[in-house]
Amino acid sequence: MNKKLIAHKFPDTGKDFEVRNPANGKLLAKLPDMGGTKFITQTIDNADSAFAEWKAKTAWERAEILHKWSDLILAHKQEIAKIMHSESGKLMSESIAEVEYAASFIPWSAEEAKRSYGEIIPMRNAARGIVAKEPIGVVAAITPWNFPAAMITRKTAPALAVGCTVICKPPQATPLTAIAIHNLGLQAGLPEAVFQLVLGDSGAIGEALCASKKIRKLSFTGSTEIGKKLMEQCASTMKKVTMELGGNAPFIVFDDANLEKAASGAVSSRFRNSGQTCICANRFLVQENIYDEFAKLVVRKCKNLELAPLINEKAVQKVDALVKNSKADLLCGGKSNGNFYEPTVLKNVTAKMEIYNEEIFGPVLTLVKFKTEAEAVKLANGTPYGLAGYIYTGDLQKGWRVAEQIEFGMVGINETAISAAHSPFGGYKESGIGREGAHYGIEEYLETKFISIAK
Ligand code: NAP
Repeated sequence: MNKKLIAHKFPDTGKDFEVRNPANGKLLAKLPDMGGTKFITQTIDNADSAFAEWKAKTAWERAEILHKWSDLILAHKQEIAKIMHSESGKLMSESIAEVEYAASFIPWSAEEAKRSYGEIIPMRNAARGIVAKEPIGVVAAITPWNFPAAMITRKTAPALAVGCTVICKPPQATPLTAIAIHNLGLQAGLPEAVFQLVLGDSGAIGEALCASKKIRKLSFTGSTEIGKKLMEQCASTMKKVTMELGGNAPFIVFDDANLEKAASGAVSSRFRNSGQTCICANRFLVQENIYDEFAKLVVRKCKNLELAPLINEKAVQKVDALVKNSKADLLCGGKSNGNFYEPTVLKNVTAKMEIYNEEIFGPVLTLVKFKTEAEAVKLANGTPYGLAGYIYTGDLQKGWRVAEQIEFGMVGINETAISAAHSPFGGYKESGIGREGAHYGIEEYLETKFISIAK
């Protein structure tokens, strides 16, 4: 690992936490736990004091710094990917792709912030009405370990680009990638108080961030359970929130689909990052007359798949229990070795099973049978989640019709690559509130001010 990239000058808090490689348990680092109120209060005060000056800069001035940041990230792509690979277990190829994806949010946000247009409203009483957009203030960003770099830039780049100051809290499992990304931001010219990192006890830090009146916005990516808790904590200060939470994505395969392409899409969506992706297809709804053929195709494609380890032993135990308790027919896999879990395919899964209703977050592909289009839609919507859904069909009209009926924030028709800096990412129902990416992601960090001028 590039030591310079992960060098830091965090305060000595007298309490450390460990970062370990999930593939082999090797200790990678010990970092200070900044959960004590003193450190968080100081961090929030710094961000608050720096806000006026950062906001006063033009979007062009901020963009210049942000472009340098993304250039530096791309110049260190391999080194950041190695850090990510070590602490999250993510395969090197996927880690490199994530660093590129992470960098893509920065120039996009930098340029889009220049287009934070307002409006002039023709007024009834002949006054001028002006709608102006302003940065919301100090932003707290809490990010998960499954995308250790991209979830940081997807939140911080739009916030910084429009003039907010940011405090980012990465997970304890993957803080080193966050430190590298943060260091490069400072190197690019982001002032220290404008972009700060806090590490350690998430409960204590989360509470302090949510309780602060100085923080005007919380952007969180993680589980629905923690998202709900944080929303409750934000209620006392009426903080605005963006919540990117869990999913239980249906992957519907109709009998008129190109089965080869559908099976490839299924395997790449399900097994990417060993199934630890929020938009991973989680339930494979397959029309009855192609069910057996599709099952054979996916099992064949599972052979020789190289998978990353799961993030920790607890995750392995959770996945294994879901598989064992399902009592569904095991077509392949179902075994673990350390934190690695074999690519697993289960047949004859039903909507009554726990594995159907839970976000599996592991490399397990569950096959469910349906008869009619109406049944597929009903099954797809039968979940409190609403993040992503996929439809494979040779009939685009049907694809469009079903896409309009399923309650998910993102729908892929004959494709699974549905996330980019320039498109809106986010969920319906208990999968969250708000959007990241595109101009929608910029608006999350803006307030709307109406100014009325007398004639
Ligand atoms: P998690 O347990 O909810 O943790 C997410 C983040 O919240 C981590 O930084 C964690 O820090 C922190 N955290 C945990 N408890 C907290 C608390 N009481 N107060 C404040 N912060 C707290 O989720 P995860 O297991 O890391 O991530 C997987 C989940 O994220 C899945 O459900 C997945 O679907 C979801 N996800 C959603 C999206 C999306 O865009 N919708 C994208 C990626 C992942 P520590 O780890 O240090 O405790």
